[in-house]
Amino acid sequence: MLVTLKKIINELGENQAVPAFNVYGYEDAKVILDVASSLRAPAVLMTNRDAVMHMGSRNLCNLLKSISEDYDIPICIHLDHAKSMEEIEEAIKSGYTSVMYDGSSLPINENIENTYRIVQFAKKYNVSVEGEIGSVGYSDPSIKIQGEYTDVEEAKIFYNETGVDILAVAVGTLHRMTGQEAVINYELLNNIEKKLDVPLVIHGSTGVKDHDLTKLSHTSVKKVNIGTAIRMKFGESLKSQFETDEFDRIKLFKKPMKDIEGVILEKYKLLGFKKTFY
Ligand SMILES: [Zn+2]
Repeated sequence: MLVTLKKIINELGENQAVPAFNVYGYEDAKVILDVASSLRAPAVLMTNRDAVMHMGSRNLCNLLKSISEDYDIPICIHLDHAKSMEEIEEAIKSGYTSVMYDGSSLPINENIENTYRIVQFAKKYNVSVEGEIGSVGYSDPSIKIQGEYTDVEEAKIFYNETGVDILAVAVGTLHRMTGQEAVINYELLNNIEKKLDVPLVIHGSTGVKDHDLTKLSHTSVKKVNIGTAIRMKFGESLKSQFETDEFDRIKLFKKPMKDIEGVILEKYKLLGFKKTFY
């Protein structure tokens, strides 16, 4: 059933964080929901700017809503990194149950003002809002967004004045890392936890080492964004078949769908979801 991100987070067990996976279509969404369902775990299907530019948020949302109807686990459809009220409005009216407004590159007052307006709007539709303070940069040099650690005092002001449901912080990860090389600044994370009573989100978590994922799930971090790990596995698996004569996309997608299953399951396990049989 479709639920808000807030509901998923409120119902997490001790030492669990929900992985939020970027999805691009039917194939990855279905495998994520199959794995989540086998664990009786909640799922967050997240669409990033590339997917929205490719398909439009209304099309994406309708597809994901429809697939979700086949599952009886809590599922959240989340819009990642929206930069304007217009994008947020379109997504919410299409049926997203959670949105992220990313004003992290703006001066803090503007970020606060815009995020506050979005929180007020989203409330009317019972949609969760994630904000960002500090900035998670990109390891891809073509994307000119500088990373900047979250400042604890700024985070406190931002949270108090916007009332977001969940807060993305920058504590050492970068988007689009292809290796697990991020160095998490736990001292900063602990300071944020001490000062703010709000669930936190880590972006760029493909770059987080396995043991750090587990360690993070024991903190206030309640959502861990993962995109590149699945995209890499899917793409490599697809490419490995290019020497064959096969041209049918449905047949070509079978192997990548099978291959990403293990990556998804592993991330769930590291974040505190054990296999349950029922
Ligand atoms: Zn992100």
